[in-house]
Parts: sequence; structure tokens; C-alpha cells
Amino acid sequence: MTRNHTRSAELAARAAGLTPGGVHSNVRLAGPRVFFERGEGAWLWDVDGNDYVDYLLGQGPNFLGHAPRAVNDAVAAAMRRGSVFGAQHALENDASELFLQAVGWADRVRFGVSGTESVQLALRLARAATGRRRFVRFAGHYHGWLDNVLVRTVDETTTPASAGQLDQFDQFHVLPYNDLAAVETLLAEHADDLAAILLEPVMCNSGVVPPRDGYLRGLRDLCDRHSVVLIFDEVITGFRIAPGGAADRYGVAPDLATYGKAMAGGWPVAAVAGRAELMDPIGTGEVNHSGTFNASVPACAAVAATLRQLRDDPPYDRLETHGGKLVDGLRELGTRHDVPLRAQGLPMAFHMSFGDPSPIHDLGQLDRLDLERYARFAHVLVDYGVWVAPRGIWYISAAHGEKELVAVLERVDAALAAGGGDR
Ligand code: PMP
Repeated sequence: MTRNHTRSAELAARAAGLTPGGVHSNVRLAGPRVFFERGEGAWLWDVDGNDYVDYLLGQGPNFLGHAPRAVNDAVAAAMRRGSVFGAQHALENDASELFLQAVGWADRVRFGVSGTESVQLALRLARAATGRRRFVRFAGHYHGWLDNVLVRTVDETTTPASAGQLDQFDQFHVLPYNDLAAVETLLAEHADDLAAILLEPVMCNSGVVPPRDGYLRGLRDLCDRHSVVLIFDEVITGFRIAPGGAADRYGVAPDLATYGKAMAGGWPVAAVAGRAELMDPIGTGEVNHSGTFNASVPACAAVAATLRQLRDDPPYDRLETHGGKLVDGLRELGTRHDVPLRAQGLPMAFHMSFGDPSPIHDLGQLDRLDLERYARFAHVLVDYGVWVAPRGIWYISAAHGEKELVAVLERVDAALAAGGGDR
């Protein structure tokens, strides 16, 4: 089956002379050059009129589906009153209250625009509180594109991931994820100069790898013992895997956490939340955190409307059911077509690839998987009307239901039948 992509191809050719690589985020370099016309709920339509059932969700933000009516109406109404005032407006309080209620463990929140900058604020707060400089991070975890966190990590040896990147690698120690003993050993030796442990509580940027039983609790205890700040990077997990993110799902409260993506119905908003003692130095001016567009009127309207919808009509049980059926269905298709299609993770964010079906617990085990073959398959799926990330993560939104489940399984079936999984 080949779909017509003439208009996308024309637009891609034009874009190539306008923006590097024809894309405005390097994450999209690996993706097909499809130009979309619009999205609604769980569906996308491209400029050539092709439809797609979407399991990429714009890399995660469209947790309520595309163009969620309640959020967009709230944003449109708010925007009529302006955008930024260089001062406060009442929607900030609504957004903050709803945010803190959902998160549960945190006393304060500061809004920003991107996950990348939220991580920077969290690290700065941890350093300010402890007077220490370095932090611990984990192989395969992603924390934004800035110099001090961007790495190409292979077997815990760390190299810059970009030309022009300032080498600031003496700021952190890289450890394997899900290995508590490694953290314990490092802290015993280096805690004196450790401000923070920073992690994706579920490693979502290299596979989707949940924490082993007791791992997050163990990190919490080690941080308490050594007075190190525990930072959860919940940019993917926040509001998605439970109302209060990973902290809620696994019952372990960090000291600080970063958020983005799912919190604002597709609008560009991010946040740092934390305990008052750590956050309040921003309020005295001792710690600087600024941003022209922080807590803009449309941003706060989007956060408030999104979090109200998640509170009043929680999608989490439905997502568990949909995700469970979807993963079972995909595995079944793999068996039927004799390709080693495997899935692991959480129902609302899971990882698909080809390879050995046994569970992966850290980055080192990912080499058992054929990620390149899967990336090729994701490109093939474009022609069958399934929009997914070549890197393998599948996201489910509150707008996904039975119709989407039937459609996606039929379409993946057709792609595999045509040899899309390159047997
Ligand atoms: N942290 C994590 C865990 C992420 O997944 C991402 C983005 N995928 C970021 C931080 C950076 O967020 P942003 O792209 O909004 O800057």
C-alpha cells in the first residue's frame, strides 16, 4: 500500500532551504517528512488528506488528544484578555492550585516553558540548598539539550552528543539505572560534593524501563542519609502514569520534580515543583529563575483546563485497559507474522521494538533489541496510517478508544503482512 505524499514532499523540499534539516527540533530528524494539516482526538490528517491513528502524541503533550475542546476554548477565551503582563493574573493561582493538588507531595510550583529549562532550575535549586556542585545521573536518561546534561552515553562512558557542546561532564557521575548498589557505593565515597540525584523515575528515553521494586524507595533513603536532593524528572511521566506522576504511582516523594508535556493539553508549559524549603529561595531572590513567557495567560488557562479535566474525568483506568489490550494485540500480531515484535513499559507509555522478549532493566541490555529494524518499521507504518515514533515509544491519550484500537491493530497487521517488519 502506498499513500500519496506529494504535497508533503513539496513542503519538505521548500523547508529544506529554510530551516536546517527541514525540521525545527532534532528529535524530528529521524522521523518521516510528513506535513500535517490538523489533528483531532487520537487522529491526524496530513496535507495530502491521509489519515493516521496517532500513538506519538506530539512526543507526549497531547495527552487529552489533539485539539482538546475544553482546553482550547479556555485558552481562546483567556487570550482575548492578553498574553503576558510582566505581572500577575488570577489564572496563575488556579493553575498552581490544581497542579499542587494533583502532584500531592509538593508545596510550591514554578511554571516555565520547556522541560529543558525546568531541569536547569531544579539543579540550581539543589546546588543552592546543599552548597554542593555535582550530581548523579543515569545512563540512557535524557534531561534536555543543554551543555551540562546532554550526553551520548554508551556503557556509562560519556561523550558529548553534539558538536560545539561545552564539556561540563565533571559536573556529574553517570551510573547504571536500576542498580541501587552502584548509587550506594558512589554516595559512600562522594556525597560531600553531591547536590542531587537526577533521574527519570521510569526510564522513558531509552526503552520504557520501570524502576525495579524498591529502587525509588532505596534512592529516597540514600538521599536522606547523605542529605542529597532527590530530583524526579517527570517531564514524560508527570500527570500521565498517574495523576501525580511516578511519585504517585510508586509512592515515593522526591524533593524536587520537573514537569512538561502532559500538563497542558498540547500547549508549551513546563514546571518545577518541590518542597517549600527548597523552592522558597527563588522567592527571596537568592536563587534566580526568570522567563518572559513564564505563566502566560494562555499557558495558565491550558494548565488549569487540562488538570481540571484530569481531575473530573480521570482517564487512567481507561488508559490501563487500552494499553493492556493494545500491547497484547501487537504481540499477537508479531506471533502471527512470525516477527519478534516486543513491547514493555507502562500501558500509557510503552516501548515497541524487535528482539528478545525478556524484560530490559537498564541501558546496557538494550543492545538485545533491534532498534534500527523497528525504526524502519515505524517509517513503513506511515503508509498504513499509523503515526508512531521511530525510537519506539508509544503514547496513549485520553481520546483513544475502541475505534482506535481496532484501527491500529488492523493497520499494523496489514503492514506486517506486506513484509513491513522485514522478516
Ligand atoms: N526531560 C525528559 C525526561 C524528557 O523526556 C524531555 C523531552 N523529551 C526533557 C526533559 C526536555 O523537555 P523539552 O523537550 O520540553 O525541553
